[in-house]
Amino acid sequence: MISFKSVYKRYPDGYEALKNVAFTIHPGELVFVSGHSGAGKSTMLKLIAAIERPTSGHVMVSDQNINALKKNAIPFLRHSLGLIFQDQKILYDRTIFANVMLPLQIRGFQKKTAAGRVRAALDKVGLLEKENAYPITLSGGEKQRLCIARAVVHRPSILIADEPTANLDVDYAQSIMEVFRSFHQVGVTVVIATHDTTLLNDTRYRTLLLNQGKLTV
Ligand code: ADP
Repeated sequence: MISFKSVYKRYPDGYEALKNVAFTIHPGELVFVSGHSGAGKSTMLKLIAAIERPTSGHVMVSDQNINALKKNAIPFLRHSLGLIFQDQKILYDRTIFANVMLPLQIRGFQKKTAAGRVRAALDKVGLLEKENAYPITLSGGEKQRLCIARAVVHRPSILIADEPTANLDVDYAQSIMEVFRSFHQVGVTVVIATHDTTLLNDTRYRTLLLNQGKLTV
């Protein structure tokens, strides 16, 4: 479960990016976070991932209080999270397989177990046949799917994505959404920040709408 109670986030320059935000996302829900550019969407996701801390209020993620989380506890929180942020770099001098393997190598997984997991993740996003190819050969939509495979390879229970369909055309955006839906269907909690109307038109899912740092719905 993810819950915000009276959350304010003020950046060091004094800018208040979130104002009195409160909501609960239940386990297994798929939720969109929407709003204009600068509304506070990325800030909200960064608080969930403990990349930023709230200035006041309470942020709870998987029974952990983000306010009080010690630095050395952050890796444990991240075990349960899959993060897809804009600034995550694909390694162009390594194969697609190696790119997805990296997070498991960092976590010290055994090679054989890790290889199985990498292939399962690549299969999920439809990139298994390309495991030995290099990222340069991928389309924009496929690169985004590579980022998703990398984010889910350690099997997180919560998946957080910031504008995952930015710069993609409608068909690619739909195929990315299909991938998120497939994770939602197997019980993963999925939180997607977007202002892509192709995604938001799907009324099956709840949308948290931000306007100048305040939640309006
Ligand atoms: P969105 O994702 O909806 O575009 P953001 O959460 O990125 O919005 O930003 C919300 C507001 O906070 C913006 O006005 C942005 O300039 C500001 N902001 C974001 N990050 C920082 C930061 N590290 N320092 C100062 N201001 C920031």
